[in-house]
Amino acid sequence: MAGFFLPEGFEAAIGLEVHLHLRTETKMFCACRADYFGSPPNAQTCPVCLGLPGSLPVPNKRAVEYGLRLALALQSKVPERLLFHRKNYFYPDLPKNYQITQYDLPIGLGGRLPFGERAIRIRRLHLEEDAGKSLHLEDRTLLDLNRAGSPLIELVTEPDLKNPEEARLFLQRIQALVQTLGLSEATPEEGKLRADVNVSVRRKGEALGTKVEIKNLNSFKSVQRALEYEIRRQTEILRRNERVRPATMAFDEGSGKTFPMRTKEEEADYRYFPEPDLPPVPIPRAWVEEVRRGLPELPWEKEARYLALGLKPKDAEVLAYTPSLAWFYDQALALGEASPQALANWLLADLSGLLNDRGISLEKTRITPSAFTRLVQLFERGEITSRTAKDLLPELLLGEDPEKLVEERGLKAVTDEGALERVVQEVIQAMPEAAKSVQEGKLKAMDALVGQVMRKTQGQAKPDLVRALLRKALGVG
Ligand code: ADP
Ligand code: ZN
Ligand code: MG
Repeated sequence: MAGFFLPEGFEAAIGLEVHLHLRTETKMFCACRADYFGSPPNAQTCPVCLGLPGSLPVPNKRAVEYGLRLALALQSKVPERLLFHRKNYFYPDLPKNYQITQYDLPIGLGGRLPFGERAIRIRRLHLEEDAGKSLHLEDRTLLDLNRAGSPLIELVTEPDLKNPEEARLFLQRIQALVQTLGLSEATPEEGKLRADVNVSVRRKGEALGTKVEIKNLNSFKSVQRALEYEIRRQTEILRRNERVRPATMAFDEGSGKTFPMRTKEEEADYRYFPEPDLPPVPIPRAWVEEVRRGLPELPWEKEARYLALGLKPKDAEVLAYTPSLAWFYDQALALGEASPQALANWLLADLSGLLNDRGISLEKTRITPSAFTRLVQLFERGEITSRTAKDLLPELLLGEDPEKLVEERGLKAVTDEGALERVVQEVIQAMPEAAKSVQEGKLKAMDALVGQVMRKTQGQAKPDLVRALLRKALGVG
Protein backbone atom coordinates (compact mmCIF):
# COMPACT_ATOMS: atom_id res chain seq x y z
CA MET A 1 0.00 0.00 0.00
CA ALA A 2 1.27 3.45 -0.83
CA GLY A 3 2.14 5.43 2.29
CA PHE A 4 -0.44 7.76 3.69
CA PHE A 5 0.79 11.22 4.56
CA LEU A 6 -1.08 13.54 6.84
CA PRO A 7 -1.93 16.74 5.00
CA GLU A 8 0.73 19.41 5.56
CA GLY A 9 0.06 21.54 8.62
CA PHE A 10 -2.46 19.18 10.19
CA GLU A 11 -2.35 16.54 12.90
CA ALA A 12 -4.72 13.70 13.67
CA ALA A 13 -5.64 11.99 16.94
CA ILE A 14 -7.06 8.51 16.96
CA GLY A 15 -8.58 6.55 19.83
CA LEU A 16 -9.78 2.98 19.48
CA GLU A 17 -12.50 0.94 21.12
CA VAL A 18 -11.60 -2.69 20.60
CA HIS A 19 -13.99 -5.55 21.26
CA LEU A 20 -12.40 -8.91 21.92
CA HIS A 21 -14.31 -12.13 21.97
CA LEU A 22 -13.18 -14.21 24.93
CA ARG A 23 -12.18 -17.83 24.55
CA THR A 24 -14.27 -19.14 27.43
CA GLU A 25 -16.25 -22.35 27.30
CA THR A 26 -19.50 -20.71 28.32
CA LYS A 27 -21.16 -17.34 27.86
CA MET A 28 -20.77 -14.31 30.13
CA PHE A 29 -23.75 -14.95 32.40
CA CYS A 30 -25.16 -18.39 31.51
CA ALA A 31 -24.03 -21.93 30.75
CA CYS A 32 -24.60 -21.79 26.97
CA ARG A 33 -21.53 -22.54 24.90
CA ALA A 34 -19.56 -19.43 23.95
CA ASP A 35 -18.08 -21.18 20.94
CA TYR A 36 -21.25 -21.31 18.92
CA PHE A 37 -19.49 -21.12 15.55
CA GLY A 38 -21.08 -23.72 13.31
CA SER A 39 -24.12 -24.26 15.57
CA PRO A 40 -27.52 -23.97 13.92
CA PRO A 41 -29.12 -20.54 14.54
CA ASN A 42 -30.45 -20.07 18.08
CA ALA A 43 -29.21 -23.49 19.21
CA GLN A 44 -26.93 -22.02 21.87
CA THR A 45 -29.52 -20.10 23.84
CA CYS A 46 -31.28 -20.38 27.20
CA PRO A 47 -33.67 -18.28 29.28
CA VAL A 48 -30.80 -16.10 30.57
CA CYS A 49 -29.35 -15.06 27.22
CA LEU A 50 -32.82 -14.85 25.69
CA GLY A 51 -33.74 -12.47 28.48
CA LEU A 52 -36.80 -14.44 29.59
CA PRO A 53 -38.53 -13.14 32.72
CA GLY A 54 -37.43 -14.72 35.96
CA SER A 55 -34.00 -15.82 34.70
CA LEU A 56 -30.92 -14.64 36.57
CA PRO A 57 -27.38 -14.00 35.33
CA VAL A 58 -24.32 -15.55 37.00
CA PRO A 59 -20.89 -14.07 36.14
CA ASN A 60 -18.42 -16.34 34.38
CA LYS A 61 -15.33 -16.60 36.58
CA ARG A 62 -13.08 -17.51 33.67
CA ALA A 63 -14.17 -14.37 31.79
CA VAL A 64 -13.33 -12.26 34.85
CA GLU A 65 -9.96 -13.98 35.09
CA TYR A 66 -9.27 -13.24 31.41
CA GLY A 67 -10.16 -9.61 32.02
CA LEU A 68 -7.79 -9.61 34.95
CA ARG A 69 -4.99 -11.09 32.84
CA LEU A 70 -5.32 -8.40 30.23
CA ALA A 71 -5.60 -5.66 32.85
CA LEU A 72 -2.42 -6.84 34.57
CA ALA A 73 -0.53 -7.22 31.29
CA LEU A 74 -1.43 -3.62 30.43
CA GLN A 75 -0.65 -2.38 33.96
CA SER A 76 -4.22 -1.22 34.49
CA LYS A 77 -5.55 -0.69 37.98
CA VAL A 78 -7.84 -3.50 39.08
CA PRO A 79 -10.58 -2.46 41.53
CA GLU A 80 -11.28 -4.33 44.75
CA ARG A 81 -14.69 -5.19 43.41
CA LEU A 82 -16.31 -5.13 40.03
CA LEU A 83 -19.69 -3.73 39.33
CA PHE A 84 -21.91 -4.57 36.39
CA HIS A 85 -24.25 -1.98 34.91
CA ARG A 86 -27.18 -2.05 32.53
CA LYS A 87 -26.84 -0.04 29.36
CA ASN A 88 -30.32 0.44 27.96
CA TYR A 89 -31.12 0.61 24.29
CA PHE A 90 -33.53 -1.04 21.92
CA TYR A 91 -32.43 -3.16 19.06
CA PRO A 92 -33.91 -6.38 17.72
CA ASP A 93 -30.77 -8.42 18.39
CA LEU A 94 -30.69 -7.33 22.03
CA PRO A 95 -33.37 -9.50 23.60
CA LYS A 96 -33.33 -7.94 27.08
CA ASN A 97 -33.41 -4.38 25.70
CA TYR A 98 -30.32 -3.73 27.73
CA GLN A 99 -26.75 -4.93 27.67
CA ILE A 100 -24.94 -5.90 30.85
CA THR A 101 -21.66 -4.05 30.80
CA GLN A 102 -19.43 -2.16 33.22
CA TYR A 103 -19.38 1.48 34.04
CA ASP A 104 -17.49 3.04 36.91
CA LEU A 105 -15.82 -0.06 38.39
CA PRO A 106 -14.52 -1.89 35.31
CA ILE A 107 -11.98 -4.70 35.36
CA GLY A 108 -9.17 -2.33 34.40
CA LEU A 109 -8.64 1.42 34.74
CA GLY A 110 -5.77 3.18 32.99
CA GLY A 111 -2.80 1.26 31.65
CA ARG A 112 -0.39 1.33 28.77
CA LEU A 113 0.72 -0.67 25.78
CA PRO A 114 4.42 -0.24 24.95
CA PHE A 115 4.68 1.19 21.45
CA GLY A 116 8.21 1.75 20.23
CA GLU A 117 9.71 4.65 22.09
CA ARG A 118 6.38 5.63 23.59
CA ALA A 119 3.33 3.91 25.03
CA ILE A 120 -0.31 4.10 24.02
CA ARG A 121 -2.35 4.94 27.08
CA ILE A 122 -5.27 2.68 27.83
CA ARG A 123 -8.28 4.44 29.30
CA ARG A 124 -10.15 1.39 30.53
CA LEU A 125 -11.03 -2.25 29.98
CA HIS A 126 -14.41 -3.62 30.74
CA LEU A 127 -16.29 -6.88 30.56
CA GLU A 128 -19.60 -7.05 28.78
CA GLU A 129 -21.92 -9.32 26.87
CA ASP A 130 -22.28 -9.34 23.11
CA ALA A 131 -25.55 -8.86 21.23
CA GLY A 132 -27.09 -11.36 18.81
CA LYS A 133 -26.97 -11.08 15.06
CA SER A 134 -29.57 -9.82 12.62
CA LEU A 135 -29.62 -11.39 9.21
CA HIS A 136 -31.22 -9.06 6.71
CA LEU A 137 -32.87 -10.90 3.82
CA GLU A 138 -34.74 -9.33 0.95
CA ASP A 139 -38.17 -9.32 2.52
CA ARG A 140 -37.51 -9.93 6.19
CA THR A 141 -34.93 -9.99 8.93
CA LEU A 142 -33.93 -13.13 10.81
CA LEU A 143 -32.46 -13.19 14.27
CA ASP A 144 -29.74 -15.50 15.51
CA LEU A 145 -29.15 -15.16 19.24
CA ASN A 146 -26.28 -17.63 19.52
CA ARG A 147 -23.90 -14.73 19.99
CA ALA A 148 -26.16 -12.95 22.50
CA GLY A 149 -24.58 -13.03 25.93
CA SER A 150 -21.16 -14.20 24.80
CA PRO A 151 -18.30 -12.61 26.72
CA LEU A 152 -16.38 -9.61 25.43
CA ILE A 153 -13.69 -7.35 26.70
CA GLU A 154 -13.89 -3.81 25.45
CA LEU A 155 -10.62 -1.95 25.55
CA VAL A 156 -10.68 1.83 25.13
CA THR A 157 -7.53 3.81 24.38
CA GLU A 158 -6.74 7.46 24.90
CA PRO A 159 -6.49 9.37 21.58
CA ASP A 160 -2.73 8.72 21.38
CA LEU A 161 -2.44 7.23 17.91
CA LYS A 162 -1.28 9.63 15.25
CA ASN A 163 -2.07 8.09 11.90
CA PRO A 164 -3.89 5.19 10.24
CA GLU A 165 -0.75 3.06 10.08
CA GLU A 166 -0.28 3.36 13.84
CA ALA A 167 -3.90 2.38 14.39
CA ARG A 168 -3.39 -0.79 12.38
CA LEU A 169 -0.14 -1.57 14.18
CA PHE A 170 -1.80 -1.03 17.55
CA LEU A 171 -4.54 -3.50 16.65
CA GLN A 172 -1.96 -6.06 15.57
CA ARG A 173 -0.19 -5.64 18.88
CA ILE A 174 -3.36 -6.06 20.88
CA GLN A 175 -4.10 -9.13 18.80
CA ALA A 176 -0.64 -10.56 19.50
CA LEU A 177 -0.99 -9.75 23.19
CA VAL A 178 -4.35 -11.42 23.74
CA GLN A 179 -3.32 -14.44 21.69
CA THR A 180 -0.19 -14.73 23.82
CA LEU A 181 -2.34 -14.43 26.94
CA GLY A 182 -4.58 -17.14 25.51
CA LEU A 183 -7.76 -15.19 26.16
CA SER A 184 -9.03 -14.51 22.66
CA GLU A 185 -8.39 -15.79 19.19
CA ALA A 186 -8.85 -12.17 18.14
CA THR A 187 -9.56 -13.06 14.52
CA PRO A 188 -11.24 -10.09 12.82
CA GLU A 189 -12.52 -12.30 9.99
CA GLU A 190 -14.58 -14.27 12.52
CA GLY A 191 -15.73 -11.12 14.29
CA LYS A 192 -13.59 -12.01 17.31
CA LEU A 193 -11.81 -8.68 17.16
CA ARG A 194 -13.91 -5.68 16.16
CA ALA A 195 -12.90 -2.05 16.39
CA ASP A 196 -14.67 1.26 16.50
CA VAL A 197 -12.35 4.11 15.67
CA ASN A 198 -12.50 7.72 16.80
CA VAL A 199 -10.61 10.31 14.87
CA SER A 200 -10.18 14.05 14.88
CA VAL A 201 -8.01 16.41 12.88
CA ARG A 202 -6.60 19.74 14.01
CA ARG A 203 -4.12 22.32 12.83
CA LYS A 204 -0.64 21.57 14.12
CA GLY A 205 -0.21 22.67 17.70
CA GLU A 206 -3.91 23.23 18.41
CA ALA A 207 -6.02 21.43 21.02
CA LEU A 208 -7.76 18.18 20.02
CA GLY A 209 -10.39 18.61 17.34
CA THR A 210 -13.94 17.33 17.24
CA LYS A 211 -14.01 13.60 16.85
CA VAL A 212 -15.99 11.39 14.55
CA GLU A 213 -16.58 7.77 15.40
CA ILE A 214 -16.52 5.05 12.74
CA LYS A 215 -18.24 1.90 13.88
CA ASN A 216 -17.85 -1.82 13.32
CA LEU A 217 -14.76 -2.12 11.23
CA ASN A 218 -14.06 -5.78 10.75
CA SER A 219 -10.60 -5.89 9.29
CA PHE A 220 -7.32 -4.12 9.96
CA LYS A 221 -7.33 -3.01 6.38
CA SER A 222 -10.74 -1.33 6.67
CA VAL A 223 -9.62 0.42 9.85
CA GLN A 224 -6.74 1.89 7.95
CA ARG A 225 -8.75 2.79 4.84
CA ALA A 226 -11.63 4.31 6.81
CA LEU A 227 -9.21 6.47 8.78
CA GLU A 228 -7.40 7.63 5.67
CA TYR A 229 -10.65 8.69 4.08
CA GLU A 230 -11.97 10.34 7.23
CA ILE A 231 -8.78 12.29 7.90
CA ARG A 232 -8.88 13.69 4.35
CA ARG A 233 -12.55 14.56 4.71
CA GLN A 234 -12.05 16.38 8.01
CA THR A 235 -9.00 18.22 6.70
CA GLU A 236 -11.03 19.53 3.75
CA ILE A 237 -13.68 20.83 6.16
CA LEU A 238 -11.06 22.59 8.27
CA ARG A 239 -9.42 24.08 5.19
CA ARG A 240 -12.74 25.67 4.29
CA ASN A 241 -12.75 27.10 7.82
CA GLU A 242 -15.83 25.11 8.66
CA ARG A 243 -16.41 22.92 11.68
CA VAL A 244 -16.36 19.16 11.81
CA ARG A 245 -19.62 17.94 13.26
CA PRO A 246 -19.57 15.15 15.80
CA ALA A 247 -21.02 12.04 14.18
CA THR A 248 -21.15 8.30 14.17
CA MET A 249 -20.23 6.97 10.78
CA ALA A 250 -20.06 3.67 9.00
CA PHE A 251 -17.53 2.67 6.38
CA ASP A 252 -18.52 1.43 2.96
CA GLU A 253 -15.95 -1.08 1.73
CA GLY A 254 -17.01 -0.70 -1.89
CA SER A 255 -16.56 3.04 -2.27
CA GLY A 256 -13.92 3.34 0.45
CA LYS A 257 -15.94 6.20 2.00
CA THR A 258 -17.40 6.87 5.41
CA PHE A 259 -21.04 7.94 5.70
CA PRO A 260 -23.18 9.11 8.63
CA MET A 261 -24.91 6.24 10.39
CA ARG A 262 -27.10 7.95 12.91
CA THR A 263 -26.82 10.84 15.30
CA LYS A 264 -24.87 9.70 18.27
CA GLU A 265 -26.56 8.71 21.51
CA GLU A 266 -25.58 10.82 24.42
CA GLU A 267 -24.46 8.89 27.42
CA ALA A 268 -27.69 9.88 29.19
CA ASP A 269 -29.69 8.06 26.51
CA TYR A 270 -28.32 4.78 27.78
CA ARG A 271 -29.64 5.35 31.30
CA TYR A 272 -26.84 3.35 32.91
CA PHE A 273 -27.69 1.93 36.31
CA PRO A 274 -26.19 -0.87 38.44
CA GLU A 275 -27.40 -4.30 37.40
CA PRO A 276 -29.80 -5.24 40.24
CA ASP A 277 -29.49 -8.96 39.53
CA LEU A 278 -25.72 -9.03 40.08
CA PRO A 279 -24.06 -8.14 43.38
CA PRO A 280 -20.59 -6.59 43.19
CA VAL A 281 -17.91 -9.18 42.40
CA PRO A 282 -15.01 -9.06 44.88
CA ILE A 283 -11.52 -9.35 43.35
CA PRO A 284 -9.34 -10.64 46.20
CA ARG A 285 -5.75 -9.38 46.06
CA ALA A 286 -4.49 -12.92 46.48
CA TRP A 287 -6.25 -13.84 43.24
CA VAL A 288 -4.78 -10.82 41.48
CA GLU A 289 -1.29 -11.89 42.56
CA GLU A 290 -1.90 -15.46 41.48
CA VAL A 291 -3.02 -14.32 38.04
CA ARG A 292 -0.05 -11.98 37.80
CA ARG A 293 2.36 -14.81 38.57
CA GLY A 294 0.71 -16.92 35.90
CA LEU A 295 1.21 -14.35 33.12
CA PRO A 296 3.32 -15.66 30.23
CA GLU A 297 6.19 -13.71 28.74
CA LEU A 298 4.57 -10.71 27.04
CA PRO A 299 5.39 -9.74 23.44
CA TRP A 300 7.44 -6.67 24.39
CA GLU A 301 9.36 -8.77 26.92
CA LYS A 302 10.03 -11.31 24.18
CA GLU A 303 11.21 -8.53 21.91
CA ALA A 304 13.68 -7.35 24.55
CA ARG A 305 14.96 -10.90 25.01
CA TYR A 306 15.45 -11.34 21.25
CA LEU A 307 17.30 -8.05 21.04
CA ALA A 308 19.55 -9.20 23.86
CA LEU A 309 20.28 -12.35 21.80
CA GLY A 310 21.54 -10.04 19.10
CA LEU A 311 18.67 -10.36 16.62
CA LYS A 312 18.15 -7.58 14.11
CA PRO A 313 15.56 -5.18 15.59
CA LYS A 314 13.05 -5.79 12.79
CA ASP A 315 13.32 -9.57 13.20
CA ALA A 316 12.98 -9.32 16.98
CA GLU A 317 9.83 -7.28 16.54
CA VAL A 318 8.20 -9.48 13.91
CA LEU A 319 8.88 -12.63 15.90
CA ALA A 320 7.75 -11.20 19.23
CA TYR A 321 4.46 -9.95 17.81
CA THR A 322 3.63 -13.10 15.85
CA PRO A 323 2.80 -15.57 18.63
CA SER A 324 2.79 -18.71 16.47
CA LEU A 325 6.23 -17.88 15.08
CA ALA A 326 7.55 -16.87 18.49
CA TRP A 327 6.53 -20.20 19.94
CA PHE A 328 8.18 -22.12 17.13
CA TYR A 329 11.29 -19.97 17.30
CA ASP A 330 11.71 -20.42 21.05
CA GLN A 331 11.35 -24.19 20.73
CA ALA A 332 13.85 -24.26 17.88
CA LEU A 333 16.26 -22.13 19.87
CA ALA A 334 16.01 -24.38 22.90
CA LEU A 335 16.36 -27.66 20.97
CA GLY A 336 19.63 -27.12 19.20
CA GLU A 337 22.79 -25.15 18.67
CA ALA A 338 21.78 -23.13 15.64
CA SER A 339 22.59 -19.46 16.08
CA PRO A 340 19.69 -17.14 16.97
CA GLN A 341 20.03 -14.93 13.90
CA ALA A 342 20.39 -17.86 11.48
CA LEU A 343 17.24 -19.43 12.93
CA ALA A 344 15.42 -16.12 12.59
CA ASN A 345 16.58 -15.71 8.98
CA TRP A 346 15.47 -19.18 7.99
CA LEU A 347 12.17 -18.86 9.83
CA LEU A 348 11.22 -15.35 8.72
CA ALA A 349 12.51 -15.48 5.16
CA ASP A 350 12.65 -19.02 3.83
CA LEU A 351 10.09 -20.90 5.88
CA SER A 352 7.58 -18.03 6.07
CA GLY A 353 8.03 -17.38 2.36
CA LEU A 354 7.30 -20.99 1.58
CA LEU A 355 4.19 -20.94 3.77
CA ASN A 356 3.01 -17.70 2.17
CA ASP A 357 3.43 -19.11 -1.31
CA ARG A 358 1.33 -22.09 -0.35
CA GLY A 359 -1.19 -20.11 1.67
CA ILE A 360 -0.86 -22.33 4.74
CA SER A 361 -0.01 -21.60 8.34
CA LEU A 362 2.88 -23.15 10.23
CA GLU A 363 0.55 -25.11 12.50
CA LYS A 364 -1.01 -26.85 9.51
CA THR A 365 2.31 -28.41 8.52
CA ARG A 366 4.26 -31.24 10.09
CA ILE A 367 7.59 -29.47 10.47
CA THR A 368 8.81 -29.63 14.05
CA PRO A 369 11.01 -27.01 15.71
CA SER A 370 13.58 -29.75 16.25
CA ALA A 371 13.74 -30.76 12.57
CA PHE A 372 13.91 -27.11 11.61
CA THR A 373 16.72 -26.27 13.97
CA ARG A 374 18.69 -29.36 12.84
CA LEU A 375 18.37 -28.27 9.21
CA VAL A 376 19.70 -24.82 10.05
CA GLN A 377 22.48 -26.44 12.05
CA LEU A 378 23.53 -28.64 9.13
CA PHE A 379 23.77 -25.52 7.04
CA GLU A 380 25.63 -23.50 9.65
CA ARG A 381 28.19 -26.26 10.12
CA GLY A 382 28.80 -26.30 6.40
CA GLU A 383 27.53 -29.87 6.10
CA ILE A 384 24.95 -28.85 3.50
CA THR A 385 24.81 -25.84 1.22
CA SER A 386 22.12 -23.22 1.49
CA ARG A 387 20.77 -24.54 -1.83
CA THR A 388 20.33 -27.99 -0.31
CA ALA A 389 18.75 -26.57 2.84
CA LYS A 390 16.26 -24.61 0.76
CA ASP A 391 15.45 -27.68 -1.29
CA LEU A 392 14.82 -29.78 1.79
CA LEU A 393 12.57 -27.29 3.53
CA PRO A 394 9.40 -28.26 1.63
CA GLU A 395 10.00 -31.89 2.59
CA LEU A 396 10.36 -30.95 6.23
CA LEU A 397 6.87 -29.47 5.98
CA LEU A 398 5.69 -33.02 5.30
CA GLY A 399 7.32 -34.29 8.47
CA GLU A 400 10.62 -35.51 7.00
CA ASP A 401 13.79 -35.58 9.05
CA PRO A 402 16.71 -33.47 7.75
CA GLU A 403 19.59 -35.78 8.74
CA LYS A 404 17.79 -38.76 7.25
CA LEU A 405 17.21 -37.00 3.92
CA VAL A 406 20.82 -35.82 3.74
CA GLU A 407 22.09 -39.32 4.51
CA GLU A 408 19.75 -41.18 2.13
CA ARG A 409 20.37 -38.88 -0.80
CA GLY A 410 24.04 -38.24 -0.21
CA LEU A 411 23.49 -34.51 -0.01
CA LYS A 412 26.46 -33.74 2.20
CA ALA A 413 28.24 -30.68 0.93
CA VAL A 414 31.46 -31.36 -0.94
CA THR A 415 33.97 -29.88 1.45
CA ASP A 416 36.63 -32.39 0.57
CA GLU A 417 39.04 -30.12 -1.26
CA GLY A 418 40.82 -32.96 -3.03
CA ALA A 419 37.56 -34.19 -4.59
CA LEU A 420 36.58 -30.68 -5.49
CA GLU A 421 39.96 -29.91 -7.05
CA ARG A 422 39.49 -32.88 -9.38
CA VAL A 423 36.11 -31.53 -10.51
CA VAL A 424 37.66 -28.09 -11.00
CA GLN A 425 40.35 -29.57 -13.26
CA GLU A 426 37.74 -31.46 -15.26
CA VAL A 427 35.71 -28.32 -15.79
CA ILE A 428 38.72 -26.25 -16.83
CA GLN A 429 39.61 -28.89 -19.39
CA ALA A 430 36.07 -29.10 -20.68
CA MET A 431 35.74 -25.30 -20.98
CA PRO A 432 39.10 -24.03 -22.28
CA GLU A 433 37.58 -20.86 -23.78
CA ALA A 434 36.11 -19.77 -20.47
CA ALA A 435 39.30 -20.63 -18.64
CA LYS A 436 41.30 -18.55 -21.08
CA SER A 437 38.93 -15.59 -20.75
CA VAL A 438 39.34 -15.61 -17.00
CA GLN A 439 43.09 -15.64 -17.35
CA GLU A 440 42.80 -12.66 -19.71
CA GLY A 441 40.98 -10.79 -16.99
CA LYS A 442 37.41 -11.28 -18.19
CA LEU A 443 36.06 -12.19 -14.82
CA LYS A 444 32.53 -12.72 -16.10
CA ALA A 445 33.65 -16.05 -17.52
CA MET A 446 34.34 -17.15 -13.97
CA ASP A 447 30.60 -17.45 -13.33
CA ALA A 448 30.26 -19.98 -16.11
CA LEU A 449 33.01 -22.11 -14.61
CA VAL A 450 31.60 -21.88 -11.09
CA GLY A 451 28.16 -22.77 -12.44
CA GLN A 452 29.55 -25.85 -14.17
CA VAL A 453 31.33 -27.06 -11.04
CA MET A 454 28.12 -26.53 -9.05
CA ARG A 455 26.19 -28.57 -11.61
CA LYS A 456 28.71 -31.37 -11.51
CA THR A 457 28.51 -31.51 -7.73
CA GLN A 458 24.71 -31.24 -7.78
CA GLY A 459 24.83 -27.95 -5.92
CA GLN A 460 26.59 -29.48 -2.96
CA ALA A 461 29.82 -27.59 -3.19
CA LYS A 462 30.21 -24.29 -1.42
CA PRO A 463 30.39 -21.56 -4.07
CA ASP A 464 33.07 -19.60 -2.19
CA LEU A 465 35.32 -22.60 -2.01
CA VAL A 466 34.76 -23.43 -5.70
CA ARG A 467 35.68 -19.91 -6.67
CA ALA A 468 38.84 -20.01 -4.61
CA LEU A 469 39.94 -23.35 -6.09
CA LEU A 470 39.25 -22.13 -9.65
CA ARG A 471 41.31 -19.00 -9.05
CA LYS A 472 44.15 -21.08 -7.72
CA ALA A 473 44.00 -23.52 -10.61
CA LEU A 474 43.94 -20.71 -13.19
CA GLY A 475 46.61 -18.72 -11.42
CA VAL A 476 44.55 -15.54 -11.09
CA GLY A 477 44.36 -13.34 -7.96
P1 ADP B 1 -17.76 9.28 23.87
O1 ADP B 1 -18.23 9.87 25.13
O2 ADP B 1 -18.21 9.97 22.63
O3 ADP B 1 -17.92 7.79 23.82
P2 ADP B 1 -15.14 9.10 24.91
O4 ADP B 1 -14.53 10.28 25.54
O5 ADP B 1 -15.72 8.04 25.76
O6 ADP B 1 -16.19 9.57 23.85
O7 ADP B 1 -14.03 8.46 24.00
C1 ADP B 1 -14.28 7.41 23.16
C2 ADP B 1 -13.05 7.19 22.32
O8 ADP B 1 -12.79 8.34 21.53
C3 ADP B 1 -11.77 6.94 23.08
O9 ADP B 1 -11.04 5.92 22.45
C4 ADP B 1 -11.03 8.25 23.02
O10 ADP B 1 -9.63 8.06 23.03
C5 ADP B 1 -11.46 8.79 21.68
N1 ADP B 1 -11.44 10.24 21.65
C6 ADP B 1 -11.94 11.08 22.57
N2 ADP B 1 -11.76 12.36 22.19
C7 ADP B 1 -11.14 12.31 20.98
C8 ADP B 1 -10.69 13.30 20.05
N3 ADP B 1 -10.86 14.60 20.27
N4 ADP B 1 -10.09 12.88 18.93
C9 ADP B 1 -9.91 11.59 18.67
N5 ADP B 1 -10.32 10.61 19.50
C10 ADP B 1 -10.94 10.96 20.63
ZN1 ZN C 1 -27.66 -18.83 27.58
MG1 MG D 1 -17.63 6.34 25.32
